[in-house]
Amino acid sequence: MSRNPRYDVLFESVRIGPVTARNRFYAVPHAAGMTNTMPHMRASFRETKAEGGWGVVCTGYVSIDPSSDDAPLPYATLWDDHDIRSHALMTDGVHKHGALAGIELWHGGGSVMNRSSRLPPLSPSGTSWMATHVNFMGHQRPKLMDAQDIRALLTQQAQAARRARQAGFDIVYVYAGMGYLPYEFLLPEWNQRTDAYGGSVANRVRLVRELLEVTQEAVGGKCAVALRISLEELRARPSASAPSQAHEVVALLADVPDLWDVKLDSAPTDCAPSRFSSEGSHESVIDFVKTLTRRPVVGVGRFTSPDTMVSQIRRGVLDLIGAARPSIADPFLPAKIDAGREQDIRECIGCNICISSWHYGVPVRCTQNPTIGEEWRRGWHPERIEPAGSATSVLVVGAGPAGLECALSLGRRGYEVSVAEAADDIGGRLRFETRLPGLAGWGRVLDWRREQLQRLSNVNVYRGNRLTAGDILEVGYTHVVLATGARWARLLYSALEIPVGELHGPGVFTPEDIAAGAPLRSPVVVYDFDNYYMGSVLAEYLARGGHSVSYVTPAGHAAASTIMSNEQPQVHRALASASVALHTLSRVTAFAGGVVTLATQFTERERRLPCESLVIVGTRFADDTLYGALTARADEWQGSGIRSVTRIGDALAPGALVDAVYSGHRYARELDAAPETLGYRRDAPLERRA
Ligand code: ADP
Ligand code: SF4
Repeated sequence: MSRNPRYDVLFESVRIGPVTARNRFYAVPHAAGMTNTMPHMRASFRETKAEGGWGVVCTGYVSIDPSSDDAPLPYATLWDDHDIRSHALMTDGVHKHGALAGIELWHGGGSVMNRSSRLPPLSPSGTSWMATHVNFMGHQRPKLMDAQDIRALLTQQAQAARRARQAGFDIVYVYAGMGYLPYEFLLPEWNQRTDAYGGSVANRVRLVRELLEVTQEAVGGKCAVALRISLEELRARPSASAPSQAHEVVALLADVPDLWDVKLDSAPTDCAPSRFSSEGSHESVIDFVKTLTRRPVVGVGRFTSPDTMVSQIRRGVLDLIGAARPSIADPFLPAKIDAGREQDIRECIGCNICISSWHYGVPVRCTQNPTIGEEWRRGWHPERIEPAGSATSVLVVGAGPAGLECALSLGRRGYEVSVAEAADDIGGRLRFETRLPGLAGWGRVLDWRREQLQRLSNVNVYRGNRLTAGDILEVGYTHVVLATGARWARLLYSALEIPVGELHGPGVFTPEDIAAGAPLRSPVVVYDFDNYYMGSVLAEYLARGGHSVSYVTPAGHAAASTIMSNEQPQVHRALASASVALHTLSRVTAFAGGVVTLATQFTERERRLPCESLVIVGTRFADDTLYGALTARADEWQGSGIRSVTRIGDALAPGALVDAVYSGHRYARELDAAPETLGYRRDAPLERRA
């Protein structure tokens, strides 16, 4: 297959100051949870993107000085010469495949707590950022920067830029976005200074200009200097001389940077979940930038469709197609478009599990791409997999995300695979969940695997086939994989989160009952202590379906864990817009006679709500009935030719989609593997040289 000429424009080279990108695919800086303590994992993860065809591959945020310390969040450092080698591992890997390497130099200003360095944080006027977000909360307020602090910052940036050049980077960033220090100078609410760095827009831009200048001087014309800037808030601020303050800022700096990397201001809008935003959602904020500069402009928008990318270029919105999530979900996205294989792109589903990995402080993980972060430590490549280790047959029971991923990867290895699915269609939990508000995009997990499986003649899928232990013993496959999923329970919890038994009876439902079309009577109470998406999305679904719905949770927020995936603010807005009544810090303790009893967390004060249908979204247990039945007949396995029976996905340990896909993939990778190749290599920081 060859490239569709319609996409040729995406493969034009782009000059960025003194360097040239081979095409318009630009893997922008994004946090990946791999710090300098994991230099090989980090290098390999980014090298894979370069191998997959990205013209530019960038780091995540790299601190220039201990006064910008984001611990325990995983950030990189370039604090001294010792840090250079760790980054050089990445630039070597990226250059090997003909891509440019970019580094996002970063100072967090008032957004960091300096928990490890214990230096006072710095900010233009002594105010901090996001003081109520669990990850950013701290007690130390920033020091108001004086002239000496500003001079020190410029020196730190210059030193880091020099080190970046030594490490082999081609593009060096000044980062004025997302609440970080230079951005704090741009916004009048943070910047109340009365010196030359505060007041007018020209004064507020001064620090960014000086950072760009010292960076340019430090790299001596060898590297391009990029400005990454958030424009959402500035665009909303009126200006006397331009359509907005964002226009003023861009006009003032127009051709100073070699590249504009433009984005939005807060994680929930910048890295917007698909539940609430579609592809290209940044355009209305950043569309003017190209009209004010002659320098190339890169921006993101969860671009996975080559037609949308071409449209961004043709309409003069962007010069380079930036991607963080699409480059995680499919590091080979550019190579696939180049080869005319755009149907094979594993499209990002916008679930933001990747970003939540950073919030949790661990290496990046991805629902669609189980190999991400595993390139070095497990030796997993997103496009290549070991051939089958034996000529054996595998039966996969259950065609949910775990079973499908497992069957696909086993099929690619060359095993003879049969998939039995009880339902009339494949998809498992996604069959219902993709019909819920905002979750249609998650169907890409299913669609991509369905499409890829159709091309494998050695994988056969049998729908409408509920297998029993007897059936399995009768057919006799060498390996049996049980991907039979999990079931929601009617379990309740105490204030200390100790299980207090199940609540049964008429009017008590679980998400599976709703999926099966159980008739509900209003008013409905959705009781959520699962804390991920299901409770809030069901409440919204039922409310939009005409029910009067209350949402009850013992947590302080709806869908409490979605603060990690950037979804929480929009979850609250969605519930409000669907007129769902919210009851936080509340537990369900009883349900009878059309009334549900709530106890307030911490005080135990009782309240009652009218309720005809109670939907409990709490705990899930593995559906291991089939596993139990098979293990009870283990003495018959040998006679049937069965060598192993293994549970994967939710049938092993109920989790999110990302866990199910990973589990299925790992089984497929590890079948017939030598025992010494199992497990993973442990990365370690490079030793300091004297
Ligand atoms: P996971 O997320 O682990 O993939 P799912 O719950 O999404 O789990 O999918 C499990 C699938 O297994 C469902 O589609 C279900 O119909 C199927 N299944 C469960 N038990 C059997 C069985 N005995 N035979 C065939 N399919 C089964
Ligand atoms: Fe996209 Fe989800 Fe993967 Fe992130 S984790 S890259 S949002 S599919």
